Amino acid sequence: MSERVLVFDTTLRDGEQAPGVAFDADAKVEIARALEALGVDVIEAGFPRASADAFAAVQAVARAVERPVVAAIARADETDIDHAWQALRDAERPRIHVFTATSDVHIEHELRTTRAGVREAVGTAIAYARERCNDVEFTVADAPRADVAYTAEVVELALLEGARTINLADTVGYATPDEMSGLVSSLHELVPALREVVLSVHCHNDLGLAVANTVAGLQAGARQIECSVNGLGERAGNAALEEVVMLLHTRRADLGYVTGVDTTHIAHVSHLVTAHSGIAVAANKAVVGANAFVHSGAIHRRSMAADRATYEIMQPETIGRRRAA
Ligand code: MN
Repeated sequence: MSERVLVFDTTLRDGEQAPGVAFDADAKVEIARALEALGVDVIEAGFPRASADAFAAVQAVARAVERPVVAAIARADETDIDHAWQALRDAERPRIHVFTATSDVHIEHELRTTRAGVREAVGTAIAYARERCNDVEFTVADAPRADVAYTAEVVELALLEGARTINLADTVGYATPDEMSGLVSSLHELVPALREVVLSVHCHNDLGLAVANTVAGLQAGARQIECSVNGLGERAGNAALEEVVMLLHTRRADLGYVTGVDTTHIAHVSHLVTAHSGIAVAANKAVVGANAFVHSGAIHRRSMAADRATYEIMQPETIGRRRAA
């Protein structure tokens, strides 16, 4: 029996925050339709409060896809939530995604408030979002650097006000897999009501651990993963969708997770995101790099001719690529 994992794609939101990347509404709609065909569960379309263009692009995505949930992000702020809801309201399955940080460094220097101030803002914001939309996700940003008892208080309040998904974000890519796993376990212990909703993880790749931390989160009990195509995102990027999905697919017998992704669409969506973002994928990038399925050493080639299993743990056809001659 495999456990179903929800795939939340943030290419159009966190991915767009990568330096130099801007998707116009047409690009977002084209990518969103490809993500729908890929089989992701949630498409995060953008931050509607950012500008009129950002709002219009989220609205276009909300109207363009049918099966996936369409999410828009908002700070714990009523005007942000109003913009998010207005942009999303035509979606078949809208989700308002409210975020705030619980680490002292973010509370003091970014939010410029206090722990009590954050708690109050979260309670008010989640209640306000729930008055508009049944599906509300709450993200704790910078969670691995925060006091876990305080994070638990904030999460408990978000649940009380009706958040249905709780996402733990390693916003700065600081955590190790053990820490991510420990954070998920601690919160499950401190907030038993978390077992009734979907727990999610959102990991950044500053230390090259985004995928490892994501899987550690799953193994500790998370059931939604936030990721982006080609790992596109702030700084060193997010957990790469294609890497997490192919890890779960290739090692399914051992890990025991299944996603709704049709892996044969991966190469196409990767090319599409490269084309629209202008950010090339490294040749040695896992899964979608040009060399990911190329065997050039003479001994490797001879062994491959005898039995592909010698050097191939997954087949290029599985992600929709043709085998190199
Ligand atoms: Mn992020």
